[in-house]
Amino acid sequence: MNANQRNFDPGEPDGHNPSRDMPISGDGMPALDEIYRLPARQGRAAKVSAGQFLTVINTHGTQVCDFWAFDAEDLNEFLSMPHQHGVTSSVYPRTGDKLVSNRRRPLMTFLTDTSPGVHDTVVAACDVYRYRQLGAEHYHDNCTDNLRMALLAIGLRAPEIPAPFNIWMNTPVGKGGAISWLPPVGKRGDSVTFRAERDVIAVMSACPQDMIPINGADNTPRELEFMVSAQEPSR
Ligand SMILES: [Zn+2]
Repeated sequence: MNANQRNFDPGEPDGHNPSRDMPISGDGMPALDEIYRLPARQGRAAKVSAGQFLTVINTHGTQVCDFWAFDAEDLNEFLSMPHQHGVTSSVYPRTGDKLVSNRRRPLMTFLTDTSPGVHDTVVAACDVYRYRQLGAEHYHDNCTDNLRMALLAIGLRAPEIPAPFNIWMNTPVGKGGAISWLPPVGKRGDSVTFRAERDVIAVMSACPQDMIPINGADNTPRELEFMVSAQEPSR
């Protein structure tokens, strides 16, 4: 084992932004029915208890949200999109789907979606390496670090970086398996709602990608909002 392997910590961010220091509360416990702002380029974590509902709002309609959920009792169990593909035989999540963990147990249900339903479950979260390859010369905010920092901000540590549910990311898999990189197709105020089947730590990152147009044709990352509630929100 060389020094790099020995020192690697999957929970340690490669850089820093306010996600590290601005949790919704010290332990991630949300005030129910409060709409939290998720600033552009940042991440936040929230505890969602079994039976509660998490709604993510696409405030401007053009923003991708990288989404993860970890079992609150054991962060080594988390939503896993490759396992999801095996359960639903699809790379496109649909409302009504139970979202499963890397131990193939339902952690959440994808309950409602006011958008056209275009989401991605194939592409890894952006990270410093992605932006370096795209030509970034300095540290670039990224969803991987936003996940790490959002968890550190509530006293937790990412055990690894699971493949995210990329809400509103329009990267369809075409004939032959080719992926296209396209702007979201929703509208202002679109929302998705998940029901927690177990107590989970949900993490959302307003993707900071501004080098290809997955956050709108103008390459401009924008804010999102989210809310945890005891009753299913009316639409
Ligand atoms: Zn991203």
